[in-house]
Amino acid sequence: MARKMLVDEEMNQTNQEEAYYDFDLFVIGAGSGGVRAARFSANYGAKVGICELPFHPISSEVIGGVGGTCVIRGCVPKKILVYGAAFGSELEDARNYGWELNEKLDFNWKKLLHKKTDEIIRLNGIYKRLLSNAGVKLFEGEGKIVGPNEVEVTQLDGTKLSYSAKHILIATGSRAHRPPIPGQGLGITSDEALSLEDLPKHAVVFGGGYIAVEFASIWRGLGANVDLFFRKELPLRGFDDEMRAVVARNLEGRGINLHPQTNLTELIKTDNGIKVTTDHGEELIADVVLFATGRLPNSKRLNLEAVGVELDNTGAVKVDEYSRTSIPSIWAVGDVTNRMNLTPVALMEGTCFAKTVFGKEPSKPDYSHVPCAVFSIPPLSVVGLSEEQAIEQANGDVLVFTSTFNPMKNTVSGRQEKTVMKLVVDAETDKVLGASMCGPDAPEIMQGIAVALKCGATKAQFDSTVGIHPSAAEEFVTMRSVSRRITCSGKPKTNL
Ligand code: FAD
Repeated sequence: MARKMLVDEEMNQTNQEEAYYDFDLFVIGAGSGGVRAARFSANYGAKVGICELPFHPISSEVIGGVGGTCVIRGCVPKKILVYGAAFGSELEDARNYGWELNEKLDFNWKKLLHKKTDEIIRLNGIYKRLLSNAGVKLFEGEGKIVGPNEVEVTQLDGTKLSYSAKHILIATGSRAHRPPIPGQGLGITSDEALSLEDLPKHAVVFGGGYIAVEFASIWRGLGANVDLFFRKELPLRGFDDEMRAVVARNLEGRGINLHPQTNLTELIKTDNGIKVTTDHGEELIADVVLFATGRLPNSKRLNLEAVGVELDNTGAVKVDEYSRTSIPSIWAVGDVTNRMNLTPVALMEGTCFAKTVFGKEPSKPDYSHVPCAVFSIPPLSVVGLSEEQAIEQANGDVLVFTSTFNPMKNTVSGRQEKTVMKLVVDAETDKVLGASMCGPDAPEIMQGIAVALKCGATKAQFDSTVGIHPSAAEEFVTMRSVSRRITCSGKPKTNL
């Protein structure tokens, strides 16, 4: 309530003080969060400026592009490559459906790469139009904060522009970093991986997160030999342990060599390629080594500490639950705050910011039941709590329902790959706390399940929902028998 009054009071002041500022809002960074916040604020009547670095598929401290990571070097180009890679196995599977294909299927990497680049250039143009249609003034250059209400934009030719703004929004995202091992310069990050001139013959991927798993799937799907190295026993730390094991099994089933609990220690350039050494003493030669070992917030060059904006020890901008920083006129959304680094979350934070500051409707982003997907082949998708989180957080017993089955398509194609689904239920309230699926179309199915969980659906309501037949999705409403009950007294802990 106190916050609401503060914001309302500021709104009144905004009207009186408007004339003193060049802009009501100046946004630094035109990615998912920045563009959303700028457009929605302008729609509320605010005078908005935004700055963004010049466009290129591979980012640097001074290179970016309107649309940001998601559009130029994240979700979109990645998903295009996943689609491209998935055709290989689909075509193989088609043989048993009567399709006569030549023994050898040819694949043209350069064609896919060009199509991908055309698409991100098209989207870059669309994002620019979205901004101009909303009346947002776009500046090309590097933004920096020089005071609580003052920004400076360094343009390509080095000239500096200074503007005052009632509110400043930091939406500068994050960038991949390379682990500090000898020869790290020989490795690439996801930026370069999305724009490689040639398809790797032998790729080494280092990392256990979703980006590592996705690139391993893409390259393997396109025919490369892939070795995936990660520090834990299973990839995808933070996801449900059982589903992590399913993903690992599928990756291996598709021919990816997994190296759990292994670190890369050195990369050396040789005549045959890059020699990769591990802490287990293994050595192998690869033509591409991808570091997918984490991302750091883009906060270093913004002059934040000098103006009093607090950062955490990873360099993420500290914000309150309304995305306000330690300086009241400065706000931050998206990956630069390192809360939940997903595009739809950056969009939600941008929307809430605009509503709070210009829409007279103080709004906090709601991080509950945020669904997400790992676009491995086949994909994993989840919403709500994992089994381990449910055991930790539920007051009483937890019921786990699982279904492992051969998807109907595989019965004719002959592919040996099970789909696995899981519901985690609070035994006392019957509420479904979490859902997971690993199998074809999992993200498409999970979006609907997320609505049910957000509405607080019970297992009884899942059971009383009529299925769509024949589909894999109907399994979610037909899981009748409990696979296991974890009593609140004997909560087992996994330490994978
Ligand atoms: P960004 O989109 O990164 O935008 C920040 C912008 O600020 C950039 O354009 C940058 O150039 C600009 N900038 C930085 N500094 C300055 C400056 N000083 N001046 C001017 N401009 C500046 N999320 C999903 O939800 N689903 C996925 O499938 C998915 N896949 C991904 C795959 C990969 C390979 C990667 C890397 C990320 C993926 N993500 C995915 C994450 C998603 O892309 C990010 O969470 C999202 O883009 C964050 O939005 P943002 O607005 O915070 O930052």
